[in-house]
Amino acid sequence: MDWDCKSMLPEELKILAAQMGEKPFRASQLFGWIHEKNVCTYDEMTNLPAAFRQRLEKEYPLVTLECVRMQVSKLDGTRKFLFRLEDGNVVESVWMEYHHGNSVCISTQVGCKMGCRFCASTLDGWVRNLKPSEMLEQIYQIQRIMKARVSNIVLMGTGEPMDNYDAVVRFIRLISHEKGLNISQRNITVSTCGIVPKIRQFADEQLNVTLALSLHAPNDEKRRELMPIANRYHLDEVMDACRYYYERTGRRLTFEYSLVGGKNDAEEDARQLASLLKGLNCHVNLIPVNPIKERDYVQSGQKVIEAFKNKLEKYKINVTIRREMGRDIDGACGQLRKSYMDKKE
Ligand code: SAH
Repeated sequence: MDWDCKSMLPEELKILAAQMGEKPFRASQLFGWIHEKNVCTYDEMTNLPAAFRQRLEKEYPLVTLECVRMQVSKLDGTRKFLFRLEDGNVVESVWMEYHHGNSVCISTQVGCKMGCRFCASTLDGWVRNLKPSEMLEQIYQIQRIMKARVSNIVLMGTGEPMDNYDAVVRFIRLISHEKGLNISQRNITVSTCGIVPKIRQFADEQLNVTLALSLHAPNDEKRRELMPIANRYHLDEVMDACRYYYERTGRRLTFEYSLVGGKNDAEEDARQLASLLKGLNCHVNLIPVNPIKERDYVQSGQKVIEAFKNKLEKYKINVTIRREMGRDIDGACGQLRKSYMDKKE
């Protein structure tokens, strides 16, 4: 098998059990221990035969993460976790408390190759993809530490989900599985910089998750200045793929727009954005850019942000300004990992 045990779907565990001479119900027990009870070792799976457990331990060691650092925001209870993977790499995840439940933002890759100019995750490049089990473990570990259930998941940490496509789709099937944590797909959001063929493929997976598209500019020229991916796919192709996603899933689209002072925050940009999104069932999330020290981008002033929002509302676009969470704890994508790595070096 290509995947570790924790990354396998129930039907694959059945095949594995059969190969080891075990009955199919052993696979269901195993799946329940891993994904519903979230135990960390085979030893704890007390109703499985000892020989089966020993063999699994040897041939399919369970993937677990180790929490190496946690930061707690004094402002709003947001927590940032830094997890060490088995090969020594580290990834970060964020816990946020909202009135509608607890939300976790997970990473999908170690580093990122997309190169968005304002993003800290991409500064040191891409190292490797995360396995489904490593994405699951970010949530399982946080639930263990917080002793609370997670109800919402956003794939908005380090990495480009559509650049680790198979593992991400598998992760969604596992985390939403009725015999696992059973987190509703409606409560899962996948954020992408806009890899067009993958968005189309994703639309056909028969999943019920929200797609968030990182737009950040109302035209190709401005978008290319902020996001290298815009050289590969034009906005009209990206918008077509988004429309296709909506047709196939019926899920309202989210567009993320990070406001960068003097770059994409003029009222004319808002007007162009409104015309780009006209007629779409969508919601715009304005994110005041979180400045990183490696770049000289600045946040737009409060007045400019309000004016941008008002302009969109005038054109009947649903829009909210993202509430900044955890401002005091290296809130933006990849900042905690980067500060940890820089200190180590
Ligand atoms: N690769 C995915 C997920 C990454 S991060 C994507 O591109 O969508 C989630 C969102 O945060 C993206 O919209 C990303 O562009 C944005 N983002 C990253 N760094 C930021 C920063 N410093 N300030 C504001 N938004 C940022």
